[in-house]
Amino acid sequence: MKALVYHGPGKKAWEDKPKPAISAPTDAIVKISKTTICGTDLHIMKGDVPEVEDGRIIGHEGVGIIEEVGSAVSNFKPGDHVLISCITSCGKCSYCKKGMYSHCKDGGWILGHLVDGTQAEYVRIPHADNSLYPIKNGADEEALVMLSDILPTGFECGVLNGRVKPGDVVAIVGSGPIGLAALLTAQFYSPAEIIMVDRDENRLQVAKTFGATQTINLDKENVIEKIKGLTDGVGVDVAIEAVGVPASFELCEEIIAPGGIIANIGVHGKKADLHLEKLWAQNISITTRLVDTVSTPLLLKTIESKKLEPKKLITHHFRLDQVMEAYETFGNASKEKALKVILNNE
Ligand SMILES: [Zn+2]
Ligand SMILES: [Zn+2]
Repeated sequence: MKALVYHGPGKKAWEDKPKPAISAPTDAIVKISKTTICGTDLHIMKGDVPEVEDGRIIGHEGVGIIEEVGSAVSNFKPGDHVLISCITSCGKCSYCKKGMYSHCKDGGWILGHLVDGTQAEYVRIPHADNSLYPIKNGADEEALVMLSDILPTGFECGVLNGRVKPGDVVAIVGSGPIGLAALLTAQFYSPAEIIMVDRDENRLQVAKTFGATQTINLDKENVIEKIKGLTDGVGVDVAIEAVGVPASFELCEEIIAPGGIIANIGVHGKKADLHLEKLWAQNISITTRLVDTVSTPLLLKTIESKKLEPKKLITHHFRLDQVMEAYETFGNASKEKALKVILNNE
């Protein structure tokens, strides 16, 4: 089969790899129908995720059709259409029992990281019963690709951890796919205002069409002053960090109101300053989380009922064998006005 293979920092190739085979009775082999590229994949390609080995097939999102199942898989059979979760979970260990699938002792984020991933014609999914979700007949499978990672990430790490409530003023720092996923799912709770902060004017315009009530371009305006102006000088109830650099986290510390919650989503590679000398008396909370994908069944229902329309996050389409071109486009997201790209293998 063909797959997108990582060969060390800056090197990747669309090349022949052996088709995966069942190696544990809990495995399933899935023929990929649609997959996508994540910002995390770009980090891997730069060499920021050193545990990814030369020769690894990248990708942790997608939908597909079951080709084969191991003898212990009972929820799925060949021919079933499935959604692949970016998080693999055994469902049995102490972390899984607590709903912390991200920390599963025999799983977590392993796809396209520690085991071969989804940017390929076929993928082996460990612990298939707990790591795949059935897709109903007639569902819009392209929209469901957004459920592998970005929607549960924005919802769980941003909206649920940030405990967004009716009437809240929410700021989301970062208007990329994850920030936009938080914007879409925050609206389940009817906050009064959602303020999006970014430096990419196109992404801020998109945010407006997705329900942002205010946008702030941090290259053109003073974000702290503008937010203080919008909130009678107090700041926001919930600040969601969706970038992953020190400056964006530190901005959240500046704009949070007393009693507020800073919910971090971003993947941080560098230390950020925590200004306890200002915050110690402010009754704030700071939360961190790796997505558990425990909200996937709930989000599936909201898509079925059209309360959530994630398809609008998709800006570009390619065939799977055009994946190198797709990386070019996604890697120049600002110039290409790219949010999520879909790679079709049909
Ligand atoms: Zn991802
Ligand atoms: Zn587990």
